[in-house]
Amino acid sequence: MAIVVQKYGGTSVGDVDRMKRVADRVARSHRGGNQTVVVVSAMGKTTDELVDMAARISEQPPERELDILLTAGERISMSLLAIALAERGVPAKSFTGSQAGIITDAVHGKARIVDITPGRVQGALEEGNVVIVAGFQGVSQDTKDITTLGRGGSDTTAVALAAALGADVCEIYTDVDGVFTADPRIVHDARKLDYVSYEEMLEMSAQGAGVLQVRSVEFGRNHDVRIHVRSSFSYTAGTWVGPEEDKVEDAIISGVAHDTSEAKMTVHGVPDTPGVASRLFSALAQTNVNIDMIVQNVSSDGRTDISFTLPRGDQPQALSVLEPLANEIHAEGINVDDNIAKVSLVGAGMKTHPGVAAKMFGALSTAGVNIEMISTSTIRVSVVVSKDQVEQAVLAVHDAFDLADEQVAQESN
Ligand code: ADP
Ligand code: ASP
Ligand code: MG
Repeated sequence: MAIVVQKYGGTSVGDVDRMKRVADRVARSHRGGNQTVVVVSAMGKTTDELVDMAARISEQPPERELDILLTAGERISMSLLAIALAERGVPAKSFTGSQAGIITDAVHGKARIVDITPGRVQGALEEGNVVIVAGFQGVSQDTKDITTLGRGGSDTTAVALAAALGADVCEIYTDVDGVFTADPRIVHDARKLDYVSYEEMLEMSAQGAGVLQVRSVEFGRNHDVRIHVRSSFSYTAGTWVGPEEDKVEDAIISGVAHDTSEAKMTVHGVPDTPGVASRLFSALAQTNVNIDMIVQNVSSDGRTDISFTLPRGDQPQALSVLEPLANEIHAEGINVDDNIAKVSLVGAGMKTHPGVAAKMFGALSTAGVNIEMISTSTIRVSVVVSKDQVEQAVLAVHDAFDLADEQVAQESN
């Protein structure tokens, strides 16, 4: 018997009718003889609504309570789906993340899974049930408090469970047909990819392609879980994410990702002496803020500016440690820029093809987009641009590398 893990995202379970359609699909997998585990997200915009309600009560809700609140969304979905399956004569049991053995560290809002003890899930499967697990949540090993895995975290619940259960496949059902060469909501003629390597998908996700949470891809790569990203509204094949060596097509570029969730901070007039950068970034590391790009300018008169990007929501924590430190080291000031976006070009073929960055910068310059920061890895080039120009930048780069689906492009002409 094959073990199949299926994950349904928020839009896929967006209302009661969609939930019933998901139940039909799950019933089909169960009746087809698979041991089926289903991970569900909160319905539609439930998570946003819960965040908003808390924000209307408090500017800084206690993070323990916020986490418990947010897990409620997925619990509604899991029980409704179990009810819909029972209605179809399919035995089903739902479990919270904690009941399913998703053990995490204690970092509220972006906890990491440290262990999975899926005894109850396995027991219920062996009894012949479909098992439904609430996504996006776990329980802290140390504090025993309920945690959440960060936005988009149900993907990670699904892939981690697939790894722990030795599942044959992890299917991520979503509201698009698979992973595209760019966000199909911005680039209408973006092409669906048949296969993406873990490494490329890691870069795409880390650079803002929200179709898979980055940690889910990490789990997939570390435990060799094949991930099939596909639409919950059709039965067409989607995109497989797996090891580089299984890739058939050898494209140089996989796609363009963009991210509008970051801000840029600049510490001005920092004394250009050894140890200063270390002090700044050690202090930031203690606050659990994820720093992304870092640029240190050329110094003049013994002083320099250090800029870095960080998630916009983490600005208060970053400022709380940077402001006193800036005073201590006699820096001239701190400036925050919210009006930025990051555009990244990703592709394993870059390793062996020179000139990719030059072509990307050329495309941006022709489109009149100014580049504020640059960073690269062996398979990625990222630039920071003004947020107002992000769509223009994505379209220009997508176009320069001929990533469009010719058929879709012709149809829309
Ligand atoms: P779910 O609720 O199913 O988890 P998400 O909204 O988290 O869905 O992820 C799917 C969305 O990801 C798509 O609707 C699409 O707008 C966005 N997206 C961004 N980049 C890409 C990409 N390269 N390929 C496919 N989808 C992408
Ligand atoms: N409901 C959570 C979110 O909106 C988790 C998820 O959907 O993956 O981020
Ligand atoms: Mg998602």
